[in-house]
Amino acid sequence: MTPLTVTVVVILALVVSIGIFVFAVRRYAPRTSRDGDPLAARERLTEHHRRIAKLPPTIREAHKHSSNHRQEVVASTLCGCFYCCRTFDPADICEWVDPSDDDVEVGTTALCPFCGIDSVIGDRSGFVPAPEFLQQLNRHWF
Ligand SMILES: [Zn+2]
Repeated sequence: MTPLTVTVVVILALVVSIGIFVFAVRRYAPRTSRDGDPLAARERLTEHHRRIAKLPPTIREAHKHSSNHRQEVVASTLCGCFYCCRTFDPADICEWVDPSDDDVEVGTTALCPFCGIDSVIGDRSGFVPAPEFLQQLNRHWF
C-alpha cells in the first residue's frame, strides 16, 4: 500500500467511525425534556417557578405588567422594553398578541416596536421604564 492509500483508508475509517458514533448518540442517548414527555414538561415548569420565586419581588411584580396589559400600556405616556431596553411612545406599538376572550381580533399583550419581543412595560404599571430599570429586568429574565 502506498502512503496515499493508507491515508485515504484512515480518513474513511475515521469518517465511518464518526458517523456510527453520531448515529449511536442520537439513537441511544436519554430522551430530553423537549420530547413532549409530560413529566419532564412538568419538571421544567416547576424549575421555572422555583427560579421565579427567587427573583426580587419588584422584578416579579413588574413582570406581571408585561402581558395582558393593553389598557395600561395605552394609558401610559412612556413604555419600555426590557429585552432591547429601548423606550418609546405607546402609539409606536403596532403589534399585539394574546387575543382577548371577547374579541379575538384584539391582542392584549404588546410587542416591542423595535425588537418584536413581548417584554413591554408602560409607566401606568407604577414602574418607570427607565433604562436602568429595564436593564435590571433584562438581567433577571433573559
Ligand atoms: Zn424591544
